[in-house]
Amino acid sequence: MTVKARFAPSPTGMLHVGNVRTAIIVWLHARKSKGHFLFRIDDTDTERSKKEYEDEIEASLKWLGLNWDEKAHQSARVDRYDDVITKLKEAGRLYACYETPEELALKRKSLLGRGLPPIYDRAGLKLTDDQKAKYEAEGRQPHWRFKLNHEPIIWQDLIRGEVKFEGEQMADPVLIREDGRPLYHLCSVIDDIDFGITHVVRGEDHVSNTASHVQMFEAIFDVEDKPRAIPQFAHLPLISDKEGGKLSKRLGSLSVHDLREVDGIEPMAVVSLMARLGTSEPIEAFSSIEPLIESFDFSKFSRGTPKFDPDELLRLNAKILHEKPFADVADRLSAMGLNGVDEEFWNSVRPNLERLSDIKDWWQTARGQITPVIEETDYIAEALDTLPPAPWNDNTWMDWVNVLKEKTGRKGKALFMPLRQALTGMEHGPEMDKMLLLIGPEKAKERLSSFKKAA
Ligand code: GLU
Repeated sequence: MTVKARFAPSPTGMLHVGNVRTAIIVWLHARKSKGHFLFRIDDTDTERSKKEYEDEIEASLKWLGLNWDEKAHQSARVDRYDDVITKLKEAGRLYACYETPEELALKRKSLLGRGLPPIYDRAGLKLTDDQKAKYEAEGRQPHWRFKLNHEPIIWQDLIRGEVKFEGEQMADPVLIREDGRPLYHLCSVIDDIDFGITHVVRGEDHVSNTASHVQMFEAIFDVEDKPRAIPQFAHLPLISDKEGGKLSKRLGSLSVHDLREVDGIEPMAVVSLMARLGTSEPIEAFSSIEPLIESFDFSKFSRGTPKFDPDELLRLNAKILHEKPFADVADRLSAMGLNGVDEEFWNSVRPNLERLSDIKDWWQTARGQITPVIEETDYIAEALDTLPPAPWNDNTWMDWVNVLKEKTGRKGKALFMPLRQALTGMEHGPEMDKMLLLIGPEKAKERLSSFKKAA
């Protein structure tokens, strides 16, 4: 069996850390199984679906390196949905209901008031043709519900193990709206059948939907006289924030778009974190996706709620940058206007980067104007006098410091720190042997002598 998996976002908002995790897992599973990855746009909700969201989701997947074998739009498949709807109506699995939202709310309230579960009473099923005609004469349009069979629904979930629902304890789901448009549930099941989806992987907020989907799969296979080839299901626990709270409240600020554009996060940091979050494998910084494909297995996922910690993402980001070869970033540095950064500069400062954009500060420190911090003028005057003549090499810093050590008797921090402060204006930064070379003899001299002007 060739695995065929799909990622099916609704283009009603940005891709956020919650659904990007699903995308990454679906993709890893497809690639590990040498299967197909379908990118499906669930755009049946025409009021809320927007092309710019679709473009944004697509750009995010590309940025993450999640390529697809096929792309589909639900909006292009309306005729096929109508065809299945006709068949399900003929088979009596879809029935017309005429309640208004207010009437339904009242029914729910009354059931809850009597301590009963708010399950729809199937009043629509009992309507005579005359009653239906009367409603329609009043101007009411029917919505259509799927008639669930009252029997147990069981599946082996790849993450949750055996999942069981009782058909009679579930409300018949509405599949077609008053305006005749089918809802996500029906379209999704029809698509999963038509595209030969073998694995449905999504968040655990869909578990109860899956229970009714299982019966919808069966009903559609039956009306079309096909074998009941129901896909396997994997429901991923939803991620919480660092404190265990709901992530959804803050999802706006956690879009992939913002991670990329605002926070300057590397795609592999996102993939590294999301591929391993909530699994038995350690979270590590990977610079390529291959080892993550290799280690992927649903059996490694726990049912517990994984926590998303933005600091962890930043930690992975830094590690990935520290190992990035210059060739991988050269174009992005040019795009940032840092054409002067060469391989030597990159290799010297990359251990100090948390985000790529931090390099601007180091460029400024090395090549721009800084305010030298000079507290011990006698020592700095000595340093200026002993600054080795050009040309400099990798040993220049150590040679210089050794001379100063000899002359002043200073050691450790007292020897190094004033030099770092005078040359960079800061107390921390890249290794000084490297930094000195990036600053160069001319600027070093200028900075070391700045106290003279100030005096
Ligand atoms: N469009 C649905 C969602 O974003 C898809 C769920 C599914 O994978 O079936 O929640």
